[in-house]
Amino acid sequence: MHIYLASGNRHKQEEFAAILKDHQVSLPADAGIEFNPDETGKTFLENALLKAQALYESVKCPVIADDSGLCIDALGGKPGIYSARYGMENGIQLEAAERNQLVLQQMKGITNRSCRFVCCIVIMLDANRFFTVQETCEGVIAEEPHGEHGFGYDPIVYLPELGKTVAELTAEEKNRLSHRGKAGRLAVHCLSEISKTESTF
Ligand code: IMP
Repeated sequence: MHIYLASGNRHKQEEFAAILKDHQVSLPADAGIEFNPDETGKTFLENALLKAQALYESVKCPVIADDSGLCIDALGGKPGIYSARYGMENGIQLEAAERNQLVLQQMKGITNRSCRFVCCIVIMLDANRFFTVQETCEGVIAEEPHGEHGFGYDPIVYLPELGKTVAELTAEEKNRLSHRGKAGRLAVHCLSEISKTESTF
């Protein structure tokens, strides 16, 4: 199936292309579409759905949209749905490394460091046909950043059972246990079931 990913993020495209390996994943930019909808939802699900609907309106073929972020218990679930925009002032977005420093500063002296990445995926097959799945990857906020792989908050999310931050994992390791990998595999399972019975896909 050819499916458009409702994002402008090449990192996400690479991660989704690895998960949806039997499908062709394109970005709106690959079709010359400028895609930057306002993420006005109050939950990961609302944001993923509005991105899917907005892109479906443009391409009129199957789309996959996700909304993801990092939720930290001691910060009341922040940055949450505002993960990409956390610490933004006067419309100027911080670099990922600056956002990580902000989080580390806010977590200084706090002993409850539990957190989780959350990923909600919506696959929209038609204007009134979609399915959704939401998954997590549990970790703790590290004392300082470690690792060069991945993106965003990966260097400050430590996985105790592996003794590494997410940024110290290879792409394959991250894919196996990440919020996006887990949600993506469930979504692929649903897509495969649908493809079996619908020749148009
Ligand atoms: P979205 O593109 O609106 O879903 O925003 C997701 C934001 O959450 C990203 O810009 C990152 O800051 C953060 N995020 C989501 N998934 C990950 C991940 O796998 N690693 C690190 N940061 C992530």
